[in-house]
Amino acid sequence: MAKLHLITYGCQMNEYDSERVAGLLREHRYELTDSEAEADLILVNTCAIREKAEDKVFSKLGELGKLKRQRPGVMVGVMGCMAQLHKGEIQRRAPQVDLVFGSPAIARVADLVAQARREGRPVLDTGEGPLVKITAKPASASRLKAYVTVMEGCEKHCTFCVVPTTRGRERSHAPEAIVAEVRGLVAEGCREVTLLGQTVNAYGRDLTPPTDLAALFEAVGDVHGLARIRFTTSNPYNLTPRLIAAVREVPKVCEWFHLPLQSGSDRVLHRMNRGYTAAQYLGLVEALRAAVPDISLSTDLIVGFPGETDADFAATLAMVERVAYDNVFVFRYSPRPGTPAATMTDQVPAAVKAERNARLLEVTTRVAHARSRRRLGETVEVLVDGLARKNAGELSGRTRCNRIVNFDGQGRVAVGDLAQVRVTEVLPHSLRGALVAAPEEAVCLSR
Ligand code: SAM
Repeated sequence: MAKLHLITYGCQMNEYDSERVAGLLREHRYELTDSEAEADLILVNTCAIREKAEDKVFSKLGELGKLKRQRPGVMVGVMGCMAQLHKGEIQRRAPQVDLVFGSPAIARVADLVAQARREGRPVLDTGEGPLVKITAKPASASRLKAYVTVMEGCEKHCTFCVVPTTRGRERSHAPEAIVAEVRGLVAEGCREVTLLGQTVNAYGRDLTPPTDLAALFEAVGDVHGLARIRFTTSNPYNLTPRLIAAVREVPKVCEWFHLPLQSGSDRVLHRMNRGYTAAQYLGLVEALRAAVPDISLSTDLIVGFPGETDADFAATLAMVERVAYDNVFVFRYSPRPGTPAATMTDQVPAAVKAERNARLLEVTTRVAHARSRRRLGETVEVLVDGLARKNAGELSGRTRCNRIVNFDGQGRVAVGDLAQVRVTEVLPHSLRGALVAAPEEAVCLSR
């Protein structure tokens, strides 16, 4: 067997793609190694969403260049969003790279690697291609939780975002292929899936006949042995009453909703081309909370979008307080090549972005902690996923609302069980609890 080392940057979709690449290459006699030093093939799966993500990749490629000087036989490949965005430019900046390929070429990875080895010259494959559901099993050991990409691409064209260029237009996988993949994962011990799409709530409208995420919840929910379904990322523009009802009615769908707001200012939202106002967004939050009162809400926010004034930023702060998010991801605006916002003339200075970033983090942390405190004394369902990180005498898992809970339950519950745990303490990043009841459905996965 040859040795493959995978380095993955960016979002869950990249993690999913890396797993598939490892699975495909395993069928061609490549086994995974954690060690760069012993690898025959190193693949770097990249993210282009912000400039900082790209800087990290080029710095890593610099290190790999040194490794290659010591071991010229090792092959280095770049895949993912940077490959799709920068194409041949990557090999010009990093000549040590042997192979560059975008997501449409993942299914052909074994041929591309063989071609680069055979020809001994750099190979580039960043063209468009048909959407393929890769059926190779993920290469890592059986896992309790798995990602499942249900659609590729995005057609929203937010003015800050490079995804329509890197991931192409929206294309959904057939529901049967998704259900088959989930069945396979569950057979390997998976208990929770997260359905992935850049705009996952637009799922299915491009299929013939068209379908939607609500119908997919039903189909995936029927897979016996699966305990939980999550999904991300939704766009407020496509959030329908039917989907809200499905979150309430399909029992395995968790009460957890990631709904990127980006800004609380209508003026900024308009310049971002988001297609909704702050008031419309609040209407969706009300509808979600009316349907599922206990729902956890998380969001993405950008600070320092071109032209963002103090008043615009204050509107974002006000929205955080008003919605009372359980979790917030804050990003400093980063100009991306080829996007309309990158050429807007009123760019915000880095120092202002840094200041707003810090201020927003302060507020979001306080608000999220207050939300967490509401859990004190509640009994929550925990999917046990292993030992607690800081105390091996305790078990750890996540609630349906995606909070980490550590509790003493060893010997009574096993990894993969759904345990009932009473929350006894609320800490900044986790909860502590006491086991109330061992699971009725004891599925022991630690075979
Ligand atoms: N498709 C989703 C949406 O826009 O609703 C999110 C996808 S993106 C991979 C994750 C987050 O990165 C976005 O929600 C946004 O907050 C952030 N982001 C995207 N482009 C950015 C940029 N140019 N600068 C800073 N943050 C950015």
